[in-house]
Amino acid sequence: MRLGVAAIPALALCLASVPTFASAGWEYPYNHPTRTPIDSAPAAATTGPELADLDKEAAGPHPVKTAFAEDAVEDTGAPAGDTSMLADALGESLPEEGQTEALADLDRKVVEVGRGDTLLGLLVNASVPKIDAHDAIEALRSVFDPRRLQVGQEVALLFQRESGSDRRFMGLELEPDAERAVSVARVEGEGYEAATIDKALERRKTAASAVIDSSLFEAGASVGVPIPVMAAMIRAYSYDVDFQRDVQPGDEFQVMYERYFTDDGAAARDGDILYAALTLGGKQMELFRYKTRDGIVDYFNRQGESIRKALLRTPIDGARVSSKFGMRRHPILGFSKMHTGMDFAAPTGTPIYAAGNGVIEEIGRKNGYGNYVRIKHNQQIATAYAHLSKFGTDMRRGGRVQQGDIIGYVGTTGRSTGPHLHYEVMRGGRQINPMSVDLPTGVALEGRELVAFKHHVEETDRQFAANLQSSQQVAQSVSATGEAEHPDACRGDRTC
Ligand SMILES: [Zn+2]
Repeated sequence: MRLGVAAIPALALCLASVPTFASAGWEYPYNHPTRTPIDSAPAAATTGPELADLDKEAAGPHPVKTAFAEDAVEDTGAPAGDTSMLADALGESLPEEGQTEALADLDRKVVEVGRGDTLLGLLVNASVPKIDAHDAIEALRSVFDPRRLQVGQEVALLFQRESGSDRRFMGLELEPDAERAVSVARVEGEGYEAATIDKALERRKTAASAVIDSSLFEAGASVGVPIPVMAAMIRAYSYDVDFQRDVQPGDEFQVMYERYFTDDGAAARDGDILYAALTLGGKQMELFRYKTRDGIVDYFNRQGESIRKALLRTPIDGARVSSKFGMRRHPILGFSKMHTGMDFAAPTGTPIYAAGNGVIEEIGRKNGYGNYVRIKHNQQIATAYAHLSKFGTDMRRGGRVQQGDIIGYVGTTGRSTGPHLHYEVMRGGRQINPMSVDLPTGVALEGRELVAFKHHVEETDRQFAANLQSSQQVAQSVSATGEAEHPDACRGDRTC
């Protein structure tokens, strides 16, 4: 990405003077303008920073991680040095006059990866000499792991036509995902060289709004919001909302998020949530994604206060509250007893997150609690987690944890009737009701930062209204024309 966006204009210019190259399509590996020789671009550079961030986001359990993820949007520009370095490298590897003639004369044979196929097998089947196939695959490895080939993936094999002799294998190319292509080309006297070609993506904002009939996910699907975007929204709200209990039919949500598209209009991936509003029981909660002048990206409410809290509302995803804090009849011992925490029923092995930043004060077996972890968050507040099946990796007494770190997994060790998490919040050493704790971080924008934020809010409001209107117009015209190829899930999504 980094290379692709910045490099194309500069290199396209320098290639325009080489006539043979001017007419070549982008799928031609020998002369694509953004060709990146392996020695000048390490493999790491081929996966854009945005992609890596997105992966993190998809895997990360809580917004702590996503809130501070680098702002992908600001990160697409490559330093000027990259471009000139690329141009130099490309200049060096440009074929000689005579070779250029020959390259124009390549045969392209497209093979499809079937179940159980290996790239080596595919090449050999296509009459590529084994030694060439092996060398080409070795070169490919620097930009793409051949084991990641998917069934159905197309691979183009390039051969040189030579009259009176066998066809000569010149290289291969494939598009492992919507964002990039990789190629391997024979370089005279030097074996094979791999290159990666990043496609420039266009970013569009998309807005959606829906009333929740049954679940938030269904409401999202009904207006075409991708599941990862809904999941990110739920994570962002997880400080304030227990989605198992708080969301009722008739509640509403609005969201504006980014999507990235390739030149040919295919949605490549989802970007960040820029704005969301959740109206539960008539009470609206809004969040705005904002990057401060210090470069911190976080979600704020309309007043410019961070929506993050010192403690997560629930330290576990998607679990049912099976017992609240307070007096109850004890399921094993039979008599009425104070329940000193909250129980979350969840399958054994479900990850448990640190509710907040802190230090592990106690970890290990603790009589009726079974496997137990207690985290001290500050002088006053601690949280405890009991009945775990096992502890998170590298968890030890005295170790630091960040909010959202996996500290252990649900189990039923100690005095327990089935797999669940027993969760306690302590203030000054005494257990208190976890639901009564509301500990904002106190981070709020001030002064010039707040002024800038207010402008950002106005602009976001304007963009949301405009995007929502255009998506609803598309939805209307789609239903009016009865366009059959648009699935129901696309309603309201103008970019679908
Ligand atoms: Zn309990």
